[in-house]
Amino acid sequence: MRLFEGTIFDRPPRCERCNELEAECKCPPPAVVEVPAEKQTVRLQVENRKRSKQVTAIRGLRLSEAGMADLLTELKNSCGAGGTIEDGVIEVQGGQADRVKSALEKLGYRVKS
Ligand SMILES: [Zn+2]
Repeated sequence: MRLFEGTIFDRPPRCERCNELEAECKCPPPAVVEVPAEKQTVRLQVENRKRSKQVTAIRGLRLSEAGMADLLTELKNSCGAGGTIEDGVIEVQGGQADRVKSALEKLGYRVKS
């Protein structure tokens, strides 16, 4: 029982994340449950972009935003290239299908191209 429960001094419940009143909390809904890498099959596709630039797109990832960001960092390091996250799709700069594929497989993902 909380101190002052049921009185005007009672403290209404607050969000555990932002500490705002629950009624005023604007936290996003709970993150997507991450699926372990070994249980994910992703698709790789090299795509052409403006000015004859290519990107290697990874689709089908089932990760939270934080998980996506971690994976992007990992891929940028192992491919030595830049990259972005766009609508749940990771894009690594350049036509790097082989490198991206082996980096993903090392992490346990199954990869279809
Ligand atoms: Zn909140």
